[in-house]
Amino acid sequence: MDKIQIKDIECFSNHGVLKEENVLGQKFLVTADLYVNTRKAGTSDSLEDSVDYAEVAHYINEIMGQRTCKLIESVAEIIATKILIRYKSLLGIKITIKKPWAPIMLPLETVSLSVERMWKKVYVSVGSNIGHREEHIQNAYKAIRNNEKCKNAYMSTIIETEPYGYTEQDDFLNGVICFETIYDPRELLDFLQDVEKQGGRTREIHWGPRTIDLDIIYYDDLIIQEEDLIIPHREAHIRDFVLRPMCDVAPFFKHPVFGKTMTELLAELEDKR
Ligand code: ADP
Ligand code: MG
Repeated sequence: MDKIQIKDIECFSNHGVLKEENVLGQKFLVTADLYVNTRKAGTSDSLEDSVDYAEVAHYINEIMGQRTCKLIESVAEIIATKILIRYKSLLGIKITIKKPWAPIMLPLETVSLSVERMWKKVYVSVGSNIGHREEHIQNAYKAIRNNEKCKNAYMSTIIETEPYGYTEQDDFLNGVICFETIYDPRELLDFLQDVEKQGGRTREIHWGPRTIDLDIIYYDDLIIQEEDLIIPHREAHIRDFVLRPMCDVAPFFKHPVFGKTMTELLAELEDKR
């Protein structure tokens, strides 16, 4: 991956846990590693095809002074998020903050912290079987497209399917929305649950009727196994109504656990019938 580095921007600001730090302020050195693809700019020799590092450096200095945080962890997170949102061509960013004057009553060179944040590609399944199903799905899609922490969203063809699990209910419309996000998996789940709530989702019967259901199917090639969050979705490889839209948007994407493409998984499922 190509990288533009802005090294040790000197900023004077008031972050810190101690009151003295908040009152007196101190020097911080901020380094930004901007992960980009410079091939286009390298060929065109045009700044429009790259990221203006002077502008980014001034923006970092501005953010450093905007509000006072106790922790450089918070400062780094805020800088990384704001820059990734403003400069959409970035693939990711690493922010390093050094405190050369850290008040620990011992001589030291610097105390520093680095965070790396990348845009991650995710696949979210959408399903609806109550009321204006198409509209519920479009509203969810719109909420994702309007969220600044999500970009490049597109949706599969929507298919109509018979209910699964609990069969005494109306047919579903199902699809998959693919996008890039800077949310971590849990933040993404929270955001999607908010969108479900706005879409009038209530949880009554498991696998029962719903205005809108949004499940995280894949988050990059990550594997997570927690009580209330399992990624890849535990049934993603055996549900026809997930595999068919997945084959539409990403036929050769490989299931991170089973190592098989969406096309292979769908063919296997159809063979079993
Ligand atoms: P379902 O999607 O199975 O029909 P719900 O939408 O009511 O059921 O989700 C139940 C719970 O599943 C959620 O509260 C969430 O914590 C959990 N869950 C676990 N893994 C995932 C995932 N990958 N995507 C979405 N929800 C998940
Ligand atoms: Mg769900």
